[in-house]
Amino acid sequence: MPEPTAPSRDQTALDFDRDHLWHPYTSMTKPLPVYPVVSAQGVRIRLADGRELIDGMSSWWCAIHGYNHPALNKALQEQAKDMAHVMFGGLTHGPAIELGRRLVRMTPEPLKHVFFSDSGSVSVEVALKMALQYWQMAGKPAKHRLLTIRGGYHGDTFHAMSVCDPVTGMHSLFAASLPQQLFAPRPESRFDGEWNPKDLAGMEALLAQHHEEIAAVIVEPIVQGAGGMWFYHAEYLHGLHALCKEYGVLLIFDEIATGFGRTGRLFAAEHADVCPDIMCVGKGLTGGYMTLAATLTTTDVAVMLSSGNPGVFMHGPTFMANPLACRVGCAALDELERCGWQERVRTIEAQLRRELEPARNRPGVRDVRVLGTIGVVEMEGPVDMAALQRFFVAEGVWVRPFNRLIYVMPPYIIAAGDLSRLTAALLEAAELSAKG
Ligand SMILES: *Cc1c(COP(=O)(O)O)cnc(C)c1O
Repeated sequence: MPEPTAPSRDQTALDFDRDHLWHPYTSMTKPLPVYPVVSAQGVRIRLADGRELIDGMSSWWCAIHGYNHPALNKALQEQAKDMAHVMFGGLTHGPAIELGRRLVRMTPEPLKHVFFSDSGSVSVEVALKMALQYWQMAGKPAKHRLLTIRGGYHGDTFHAMSVCDPVTGMHSLFAASLPQQLFAPRPESRFDGEWNPKDLAGMEALLAQHHEEIAAVIVEPIVQGAGGMWFYHAEYLHGLHALCKEYGVLLIFDEIATGFGRTGRLFAAEHADVCPDIMCVGKGLTGGYMTLAATLTTTDVAVMLSSGNPGVFMHGPTFMANPLACRVGCAALDELERCGWQERVRTIEAQLRRELEPARNRPGVRDVRVLGTIGVVEMEGPVDMAALQRFFVAEGVWVRPFNRLIYVMPPYIIAAGDLSRLTAALLEAAELSAKG
């Protein structure tokens, strides 16, 4: 594999970074190299040494319209002139109202009430708190546990960690401090394969046995993201929705990764035409410009949360509904409509299917799967992430594999030629990984 080239002209800055700054899931004593970025434009990330990388990650799935987007820049600049921030306790403002309106309009009809927060993990905490407070107010405080499926990922904060996959969820270290939740098997019926009703058996058995202590079921609809990039059958969500109704348990959809067109529908729940009681969105919401997420819920849940004592929903972050974030969020949703996302996502999906297919049945490759703008090559064993990182940068692309998964989730604006460079790099990376 190619050797790393000197990444920066400013070595002291990089020395400081190495010695003082944590990056996601990294060591302070044995840090992996990081590449300094000076700017980004469209689907290209420009490094300090002048090299340009085609972005296959959308910066962890959020920069769906690409970087340095004129309309998004403009929204941010104009909002900065009015006000960057103002507290949301006792005050309100246009950007929050406008973004709230759009979210209520674009999500399934029963979701009518919006709680803004600052990150996906926090929006999951808010969803879980809503479910727990709901049952307190309903006079069933015993319903305080959560049920989920294996292979999920819902964030890095404490209650969110408790519903991540105990193995692939990266949090086993904290198991002793986490509430013990219930885990059903991952649905094995593939999104585009045959539906096997047995997939629901484990879920049904847990609900039958534990429903009196279960507040909610939380799942990522259709696509399990960071827990394994698995695409499962829409019938599972149908069945799950019916079971939740039958057993009196709330249903939470975490659409943080799947929302805003990523899977070919505006929200993944639409593949099954199912509406949850609570839904989380984040990542693509501001087109990757600002950190913002939202938890939406139904009038039934909202009324229950507002009843009894204390009579209010118990959460309220400092940066709730930050005006800069909400304003750029409105611009990002406008852009989604304007760019004709359905057509773009369909085109990217078709190209990914065509160009990744040759990896199937190659040595070392376990599976190839594509849905919407998500293209995955799953290897038989874990890949050498550091070596692949260097390889991809040398190829002029930005792809960050994890565990057995080499995947892309490019911005929707990517051109066919750039996407081909990503898929070609993926095929080659799979071949290099198979050789070891
Ligand atoms: C990324 C992600 C989260 C966590 O969001 P953060 O903004 O990183 O806190 C939660 N759930 C899903 C499905 C995600 O993909």
